[in-house]
Amino acid sequence: MSRTEVGLKLSPLSAVEATGASIHSSSYIRRAAEPPYEQAHDEIFAALKQRIEAINHEVCDPGEENSFFVCDIGEVQRLHNNWYKELPRVQPFYAVKCNPDPKVLRMLASLGVNFDCASKSEIERVLQMGVDPERIIYANPCKASSFIRYAARNNVLKSTFDNIEELHKIKKFHPESQLLLRIATDDSTAQCRLSTKYGCEMEKVESLLKCVKDLKLNLVGVSFHVGSGASDFTSLYKAVRDSFVVFEKAKNFDLPALKILDVGGGFQLDSFADSSAVLRGALDEFFPSGCGVDIIAEPGRYFAATAFTLAANVIAKRKLSPNEAMLYINDGVYGNMNCILFDHQEPTPRTLFHDSEFHYYDIKSTSSQKIQQNTTYPQKVSIWGPTCDGLDCITKEHYMKHDLVPGDWIYFPCLGAYTASAATPFNGFEQNVDVLYINTMSSP
Ligand SMILES: *Cc1c(COP(=O)(O)O)cnc(C)c1O
Repeated sequence: MSRTEVGLKLSPLSAVEATGASIHSSSYIRRAAEPPYEQAHDEIFAALKQRIEAINHEVCDPGEENSFFVCDIGEVQRLHNNWYKELPRVQPFYAVKCNPDPKVLRMLASLGVNFDCASKSEIERVLQMGVDPERIIYANPCKASSFIRYAARNNVLKSTFDNIEELHKIKKFHPESQLLLRIATDDSTAQCRLSTKYGCEMEKVESLLKCVKDLKLNLVGVSFHVGSGASDFTSLYKAVRDSFVVFEKAKNFDLPALKILDVGGGFQLDSFADSSAVLRGALDEFFPSGCGVDIIAEPGRYFAATAFTLAANVIAKRKLSPNEAMLYINDGVYGNMNCILFDHQEPTPRTLFHDSEFHYYDIKSTSSQKIQQNTTYPQKVSIWGPTCDGLDCITKEHYMKHDLVPGDWIYFPCLGAYTASAATPFNGFEQNVDVLYINTMSSP
């Protein structure tokens, strides 16, 4: 079914909404409004449709109707362009843990993006693609000694630390390391806080600098992570300012001038213009261009979230009343929507296929409220994953135009960050989810 048959000609803005891409990030909208972005939706839809039309849930083998992703590699390229438009001075090191999809990693590598790895396996995965170890930062401040030796053997030099014990391990197993001191940040407004676990408090910086000096280690810079899903970016400003203080303190210890500032991750497309503006201001104030300091970052979700669309099959339904039902689908919090628990995400369900028709372009097929923008949604649903755990709930309350039945399909846009990377096979639901790749940048 084409878009005109659905009867919905999308304005460029609703096309932006359709992927959940930013409506605030002005530079992204300007690009998004251009034809390739509209076309991206046609191609995402075509991929979803082709796959679903090939599945008949009444006769298929077990698992043929499993949930699957469509990954638009072209979106990764657009995000990369957008990154340099907003943050031209900042070299990204993609946080592999966010989504280690091999095609995404390859595209990022070919675009010149470097990598933030946090374990031996992540380092191995990136090295196996032929990426130079210089392009990797081992950004985990608390590493197993055996992993430090692995990094040493493979010439991965850049690494972070935030405590004295780590410095002693590094002295013993990888004394050539190029070290970045990770400082704690004020992440009180972030949804995913990290400074409760990592980062040196500013009062303890001097003791670490002294230890670096005593052990004759090679300190090259400072790193931080303001947490993810922050609602206010003053934490970013404060962290850059604190980093500057550490740069100054290092001079007092007669350490060689620091050369790298690592501004971490937590960037999100929908607030990227705002966070970038704050970051540019802070950099101009404390690390102006020409100051001899290289600025790097460790974005994860920014590069993965909007590139993936998840489609899941309605496998069961419990009708509670004519207008109320519990829907059970074949993906959930133990599978690709673990981000609900681990990453505080709230995936948006939309009707994809119902009553022999596709509804991809009807981005208002569902709503979090019964009445929204003059549309009434007659069906109240809760949506559940396939495991037997009561925790496996995707949404407790949602409203739908359509009265979905087993065999129908739901899709979730923007589900590339912290999804497949942490899915488990709990309860016998295997996690080798299919990914259909498209590239909406390279096609004519
Ligand atoms: C997880 C993590 C990131 C990526 O965070 P996002 O919110 O996905 O950008 C970057 N750096 C470190 C050290 C991390 O732990």
